Amino acid sequence: MTTAHGVVQTPAFMPVGTRGAVKGMTPRDLREVGAEIILGNTYHLWLRPGERLIANLGGLHRFIGWDGPILTDSGGFQAFSLGEKRTITEDGIRFRSHLDGSEQLLTPEGAADIQARLGPDIAMVLDECLAQPATAAAVRASTERSARWARRCRDRFLQLDETGTVPSSVTVTNPGQAQFGIIQGGTVEELRTLSVERTLAIGFEAYAIGGLSVGEPADTMYSIVGHTVPQLPVDRPRYLMGVGTPLDIVEAVSRGVDLFDCVMPTRNARNGQLFTSEGRLTIKNARHAADEGPLDPACSCYTCRTHSRAYLRHLFVSGEIGAAVLNTIHNLRFYLDTMARVRQAIVFGTLGTLRQSLQAMFSRPLSNS
Ligand SMILES: [Zn+2]
Repeated sequence: MTTAHGVVQTPAFMPVGTRGAVKGMTPRDLREVGAEIILGNTYHLWLRPGERLIANLGGLHRFIGWDGPILTDSGGFQAFSLGEKRTITEDGIRFRSHLDGSEQLLTPEGAADIQARLGPDIAMVLDECLAQPATAAAVRASTERSARWARRCRDRFLQLDETGTVPSSVTVTNPGQAQFGIIQGGTVEELRTLSVERTLAIGFEAYAIGGLSVGEPADTMYSIVGHTVPQLPVDRPRYLMGVGTPLDIVEAVSRGVDLFDCVMPTRNARNGQLFTSEGRLTIKNARHAADEGPLDPACSCYTCRTHSRAYLRHLFVSGEIGAAVLNTIHNLRFYLDTMARVRQAIVFGTLGTLRQSLQAMFSRPLSNS
């Protein structure tokens, strides 16, 4: 995948840098673990420090010191999940900021403007996230509204893109920005197909599948991905938003997905939950207290090359910041190494074997780790 800030090998995993920082990691660390693209959250950057400030300082890449590709979400998901007293109308999402209680309105046009100022390489359209469980009628209404919002978001994006028609209040910091549409439709195949038709008719640089990994069974998610992906253009990346475990990722890749993001490797690292080639590992467990060996003998990350499980357990139990840093380096490397193995397996036609080995690795119960 080629972006304004470089090429990304796909299938790719995007570490999540919610507030313009992947927690516990410097951009130098991200490079070293092999990240090629990172994700930022529009909602958070909009409310603090503000997208105008970031635009005035040259855009998100310069502001955060990362010159590789960046994708930002639309802010909708956080406005739904973090915003207080939210109401949704055809206009957009009205809510109170979780930071200071100020009243805010996020519209499809506003989401395009904010992302134009932030300047990621890939911007996402504003879509409606539906509270679960939802009735079939609610899913249909939401899917149709998301399609109308996608049209408004695209119109605004194209207006910003054409020299001379840019509203004077919007500074476009990355003229090479692409915009992805989002397929909605919950777990109803017919609505997924409807959403694909509406979204393809608008036309975007590429397409994402949203509204999954929100509590539905894994088999349902795989089935909806398997239903939706074949309807998307083969020459555009497909992005499965917010997914997932290493096994989820391989299952989705085998159904044709190219891009993933998830907080799991970084969040779990901070909680002392590590992904290894032998399965999951809980670093605080007493059995690691005097273990001189590395977290994962098959891993070549800085943490595994340098430190013992005994030291990592000590840092974690002591509440040292270094525990979060070293664990995050390892978990991200595990995810990014897994993606490298996935790409290699595709070339050699051995994705099925890799899927089986990940199944065996991650179906073991946590209590044994
Ligand atoms: Zn490691």
